Amino acid sequence: MMRILLVNPPIFDFTASDFWLRPYGMTRVASRMRHVCEFIFFNFLRTVKKDAWGRGRFPEEIIPKPEVFSDIPRRFRRFGRQRAEFRTLLQARAFDVVFVQTSMTYWYPGIREVIEDVRELQPSAKIVLGGVYATLCTDHAESLGADLVIKGSNLEPLWRALSMQPSQGDCLIPGGNDDVGVLKLGEGCPFHCTYCAAPLMWNGFAPRDTGACLRELRLLIAAGAKDIAFYDDALLYRADEVLKPFLESVVNERISARFHTPNALNARFMTPELAGLMTRAGFASFFFGLESGAAAWQTATGGKVNAGEFAAAVDCLRSAGTRYIAAYIIAGHPDSETQSLEESMQFVHDCGAKIVLSEFSPIPGTEDGKKSTPWADMKEPLSHNKTAFAIRRLGADYLNRLKSLSRSLNHDMSMKYPG
Ligand code: SF4
Repeated sequence: MMRILLVNPPIFDFTASDFWLRPYGMTRVASRMRHVCEFIFFNFLRTVKKDAWGRGRFPEEIIPKPEVFSDIPRRFRRFGRQRAEFRTLLQARAFDVVFVQTSMTYWYPGIREVIEDVRELQPSAKIVLGGVYATLCTDHAESLGADLVIKGSNLEPLWRALSMQPSQGDCLIPGGNDDVGVLKLGEGCPFHCTYCAAPLMWNGFAPRDTGACLRELRLLIAAGAKDIAFYDDALLYRADEVLKPFLESVVNERISARFHTPNALNARFMTPELAGLMTRAGFASFFFGLESGAAAWQTATGGKVNAGEFAAAVDCLRSAGTRYIAAYIIAGHPDSETQSLEESMQFVHDCGAKIVLSEFSPIPGTEDGKKSTPWADMKEPLSHNKTAFAIRRLGADYLNRLKSLSRSLNHDMSMKYPG
């Protein structure tokens, strides 16, 4: 059996928290190899404190701020378990291959730390990177010294490098029991929003097999999961074929879980019937991607949704008895002058939803990434950092005022819909 180490690396950032964060892509790839491999999972991002829905905090320490952030008035941190724990594992066990999950482009210092330790302590192990950073910044990722960088979802180079025939094996639960599980019913998205990485990661939208998704759900629940987060980019798209049959089985089989939607939902596809089914099936939180209430900005960035569709979706969910509804609003977009930020926040509040201010991170290869060059060096992934970008774009004082407005509007909403 090939011995494989799966690593979820530490995060270097101003802020980070466990918003149902799990290394989904790496898990799916490993599942296809389980017939010929044995796995050890080292999770730097083991959550230390959790809320009622399984979200939590990571261990953290303040570290010196990289020079590139000298103008950012925030403390810089390393999130995750101690480096020494990982080094102890590398000294105790031998591995043939080390897989490292990558996500935000500006988190690459965590990948670099893992690669340095593996190279020093297990020089014969092959290092493989995959995920968002590996796909969007392939050249940069290759410069960190891995043996293979997987770009996008094409795994052929991996199977060739490992001389292996992949199976369609069931989902692997790395590290055993976990009270949070992550699931995807489909890959990709049919839209092309100018700020989004999804069109660069996937070619269009492709549903997954409903039976396989249900098997994964049952396995996650058998391993202890109570909260299930969907990682779909377009969960409500073609719901008659994808989400509805899945949820009808969940209801008929009386599968008990709280479902969450941290990847923004598209309000355009919500209907009263779907709202009722999702609520009956156990959806506890709904996060919509509104981004701005201004029609001109919505159209210019891809037209995925408009304000009227958002208001109607909130009405559907309130009628179905849902309590937690929130909308992401982007703060710090290159065209933020046309976003009407305060009005957008007030609009979300008036519709009856909470506001989640989402600081903008420019994605290389997107239209908005090109527009971001006055505030970011797109060739240096650290400068894609959302905290740094939003401060540079809007100024720390204005950003603080937006955050404080969001807190006070959300406080009102908590009074109206407690719990
Ligand atoms: S609809 Fe959402 S996932 Fe799809 S491209 Fe737009 S922002 Fe990305």
